[in-house]
Amino acid sequence: MWIIPALCALLLFGCNSASYTHESFLALGTACTLQVPSSTKTEVMQGAQELADEITAHLSRTAQGSEINTLNLQKQNVLSEDTYNLLKRALDFANKTNGAFDPAIGGLTALWNIGTDQARVPADAEIAAVDTDWTKVVMEDESRLVTLPEAVQIDLGAIGKGYAADKLKDYLHSQGIDRGIINLGGNIYAIGSKTKDTPWKIGLRDPFKEEGSVFIVLEVSDVSLVTSGTYERFFIQDGVKYHHILDRRSGYPAESDLASVTIIGPESTVCDALSTSVFVLGREAGLKLLESFPGYSCVLVDQDKQVVFSPDFPYPYTLV
Ligand code: ADP
Ligand code: MG
Repeated sequence: MWIIPALCALLLFGCNSASYTHESFLALGTACTLQVPSSTKTEVMQGAQELADEITAHLSRTAQGSEINTLNLQKQNVLSEDTYNLLKRALDFANKTNGAFDPAIGGLTALWNIGTDQARVPADAEIAAVDTDWTKVVMEDESRLVTLPEAVQIDLGAIGKGYAADKLKDYLHSQGIDRGIINLGGNIYAIGSKTKDTPWKIGLRDPFKEEGSVFIVLEVSDVSLVTSGTYERFFIQDGVKYHHILDRRSGYPAESDLASVTIIGPESTVCDALSTSVFVLGREAGLKLLESFPGYSCVLVDQDKQVVFSPDFPYPYTLV
């Protein structure tokens, strides 16, 4: 499910450079900002926004008539090539994480409705009636027909913003833009470097402090950074905090020893899927998973406020 996050996970430094301009819009259920060279034509920005709208119209779980919405309602749908391939990749992540990342979790996200004003703790019987078994999703490559059992619903919310960031990056490249920042509700793509000699500086939000507090500033070029945490979308009922990353095994928000997970690497789709996966898996199993993704690094903050880096962390950083 995509909804407007209360806060952005990542904050950008040096945004006020005179040579860049910012464009903000709502898409993918979140606040999006593009920072591009001031010379960028209006048509290019319009094209980027249209692309984001188009991706939303395909992938949203809740938007009526989207490919995924129709699939969930009718239990069968012939998907466009891009959507089909994304679902296939999402199912592959489910296999690799043994369901910690589960795109068939849509029935649960619909029950909890976290991030909307209808968020509530579902009854046990409601949770029991939902099927989140991703192995029951039937994909037919030739026809791109996807079939779901009655109680299964697809939710690409944990991978879709990363996918959109990759698509937008490719679009901007095709328009000759080789420097800039794509920020889709905290899913960042840092295109090129800020200047020929200066990398982009990206601050990561401190999960234990209020919005605007960062605990680290990273220097990066040509990579995506995606954060999953529990501080953005949650509700409190009877003094208990319920966040939006769910565990299919319990039907409840995942009980992680991590407070925030940031994945850095070349493909935002992979960063997005990994950030959710590592959060659910927790510190030890999460770091183990990352070993099978060469080129991807992480910065974790655990519940004891300890900052943990993946081995051989390649990006220069300053702890704040
Ligand atoms: P955000 O969307 O806030 O950036 P994530 O990328 O971690 O955060 O995705 C969380 C969203 O993914 C949830 O709002 C929900 O729609 C969906 N989701 C929740 N739990 C899982 C899970 N275990 N596996 C896959 N998707 C999930
Ligand atoms: Mg994610």
